[in-house]
Amino acid sequence: MPGSSVYLPTTDFNWTERAFALYAQGRLTVTEHTADGVSGVVVSGPCPRCDHHFVDRRSLDALTGLAGVNRNGEGEPSDLILLDVTCGCGIPHEGAPEGATGCGVSFRIELKRL
Ligand SMILES: [Zn+2]
Ligand SMILES: [Zn+2]
Repeated sequence: MPGSSVYLPTTDFNWTERAFALYAQGRLTVTEHTADGVSGVVVSGPCPRCDHHFVDRRSLDALTGLAGVNRNGEGEPSDLILLDVTCGCGIPHEGAPEGATGCGVSFRIELKRL
């Protein structure tokens, strides 16, 4: 049930699939932005596991390098962006360790660069 998830560190692919479904439905959004000459992305929407709203901001330059390495290891420039996101809903979950900011789930969002 949303809101009552117990803290659980998990990277189960199920959550990645669910995140993609949320993204396809337009509930989870990924926005590119540029600030101070640095491009980044903001992932915003409901967590696929606990359903709490979260916002994840990060620099994109580091990520494109990561995507290039992750794609079939040939080091070619990639137009895919891979985002490994950890839930940061900020809502306390039962059993969460000190300093945890979410329900513990990590999932991947893979999208084509605009
Ligand atoms: Zn949560
Ligand atoms: Zn969560």
